[in-house]
Amino acid sequence: MKFASRLVQFAAAPGDRFRPTATPIYQTATFEQEHADRFGDYDYSRSGNPTRTVLEEQVARLENGTRGFAFASGMAAITAVARTLRSGDEILADSDLYGGTCRLFTRILERSGIGASYADASNLEAFAARITPRTRLIYVESPTNPLLRVINLGALSEWAHRNGALLVVDNSLMSPYLQRPLELGADIVLHSATKFLCGHADVTGGVVVVRDTRLAEEIYFLQNAEGNALAPFDCFLLLRGLKTLKLRVDAQQRNTLAIAGFLAADPRVARVYYPGLASDPGYALQHRQATGAGSVLSFTTHSMEAARAVAERAQMFQICVSFGSIHSTISLPGCMSHASVPPEIAASRELPAELVRISVGIEDAGDLIADLDQALPLAEVEQAERGLASQLAEGR
Ligand code: PLP
Repeated sequence: MKFASRLVQFAAAPGDRFRPTATPIYQTATFEQEHADRFGDYDYSRSGNPTRTVLEEQVARLENGTRGFAFASGMAAITAVARTLRSGDEILADSDLYGGTCRLFTRILERSGIGASYADASNLEAFAARITPRTRLIYVESPTNPLLRVINLGALSEWAHRNGALLVVDNSLMSPYLQRPLELGADIVLHSATKFLCGHADVTGGVVVVRDTRLAEEIYFLQNAEGNALAPFDCFLLLRGLKTLKLRVDAQQRNTLAIAGFLAADPRVARVYYPGLASDPGYALQHRQATGAGSVLSFTTHSMEAARAVAERAQMFQICVSFGSIHSTISLPGCMSHASVPPEIAASRELPAELVRISVGIEDAGDLIADLDQALPLAEVEQAERGLASQLAEGR
């Protein structure tokens, strides 16, 4: 079956004698046992719940893995993967990483003696030089967030395996519809399911999918032991959202291409970061390893004032952290989603302050372009604002 069919053709309620077509929400903490000395399929929802099983099997199938796991958030999913490490192990991660991931690696894992270092993985040679004999996990997002750099996942996985490390890919920005890292050689794929898998910004969740059965056992052990699995109602919402993944992503991506073309031609914009544009340095690689460039793009204006102005003046783009919803959103990553990057790492990250990130929804492309057009300030306006700001700063 093609991907579009697989999104809706799956066993929604296996074993249910009423044969519902939507997955029931098994809102129960406990399951009665027939015997005192033997358990049935389910006993306690922290350890397993039928609504969660349907979701976990569906995401595993969509990512072409063997087993999936649903967590209470993307960060809980990433934490479970990090928990497979021991004191003395190290993570080598791409430097353009979601701020919360960077905070976890740097501020939390170091408490357990796990090290983390960062380098630009889109430059494999320089990245490879940072590996040490203790490196166990290579961790990337591709395209990266928010600079939309494209990382060669096939080459990176071969190199990681040659060096005894596993490749972990955060696929939140792409979704399994556009990119399936396990097929490119990655060992672990994970998502903030809060983004495209949900698609409606009404669930916080995370998923991990693996191929290797021993690794699957380890992730299951951690999920059960630490008690951070996704609740049944949220599993139901994710299952519902997932069915329209292709429709949503197709529409969002069409809109994004139109907006990228508009921004790239506008003199009020300094640079567009989007591997869906043929002029982008990541275009060719992106289209070799994925079937599209998605619907998140970043751009720079000519000043920080202009970046703030476009975010605040846009009417249809809500100022929001996160991405992947059917609603268009806008953010300044430097002071929003990536503000949690520890300062010593932020200093080396080349994140322009005037970087604006948009996540494009399913609204009408013409309306969205008209909104950005009215929101992008003219140079004279910018100058006047800058003058006013310096007058205020001087107390005049
Ligand atoms: N990965 C990426 C790429 C993200 O952007 C985020 C959150 O924005 C996360 C992981 C963390 O996910 P969550 O917010 O669901 O915990």
